[in-house]
Amino acid sequence: MRIVMLGAPGAGKGTQAKKISEKFDIPHVSTGDILRKEIKNETELGLEAKSFVESGKLVTDELVIEIIKNFIQGDSAENGFLMDGFPRNLAQAKKFAEMLEEIELKLDHVINIDVDNSEIINRLGMRRTCKECQKITSVAESSNGASCPECGGELFIRKDDEKEVIAHRLEVYEKETQPLIEYYSESGILIDIDGLGTEEEVTERILKSL
Ligand code: AMP
Repeated sequence: MRIVMLGAPGAGKGTQAKKISEKFDIPHVSTGDILRKEIKNETELGLEAKSFVESGKLVTDELVIEIIKNFIQGDSAENGFLMDGFPRNLAQAKKFAEMLEEIELKLDHVINIDVDNSEIINRLGMRRTCKECQKITSVAESSNGASCPECGGELFIRKDDEKEVIAHRLEVYEKETQPLIEYYSESGILIDIDGLGTEEEVTERILKSL
C-alpha cells in the first residue's frame, strides 16, 4: 500500500500516519522527523535545513527530493510506504509522480485530514514535544503540563510551534500545500477525512475508507 497523508500542521497527520503505517506494516516516512533528526545531529543537511524548519518555511525542493529519492531507491520502500509531510507543494508532487513512474509504481491513496483553522490554532498552541522520546503531546494530555505522558521526559515548545511561527506555517500550508488536494482529487485517489474527534475515532474513519 502506497499512501500520502495530507493535512495542515496540527491536523493530526503525524499521529495518524504512525498508527496507519503500523497497522499495514509499511514504513512511515516523515520528512519533518527526518529533517529534525539531521538538525539535532548537526549534519550538513541539518545545518542547511535548520533556519527554514525553525522559521516555518519550506526547505528547498531539491533537499527533500534527495531524501525521498534515497528512500525510494532503498529496500524498505518495496512493500509500500506512508508519506507524512511530503509532497508539500505541486513541484514536489509532480517530481514524486515521475520518480514513481520510473519504477512503475503508483500511489494507492491520498488521505486528507481536514480540521478547521480555529481548531488547528488551538491544538498547535497546546502542542508540546518530549525532549527524550520526541513524542508530540498536548498539554491537555499531560497530568502536570510539564512531563511526557509516555516516558516522563521533559516537554518543550518546538521553535516552529511558537505563536508567530504557527501563523506563518498555516499561511505556507494554504498557499503551497492546499493546491495538492485538487491535484490528487483530479487523479481520483483523494480521500477526505474529518479530523475532529478523538485519535481513535479519526483512525477508525481512515481505516474504514481504505
Ligand atoms: P512537519 O513536521 O511535517 O510539519 O515539518 C516541519 C518542517 O520541516 C516544515 O515546516 C518544513 O520546514 C520542513 N519540511 C518537512 N517536509 C517538507 C517538505 N516536503 N518540503 C519542504 N519542507 C519540509
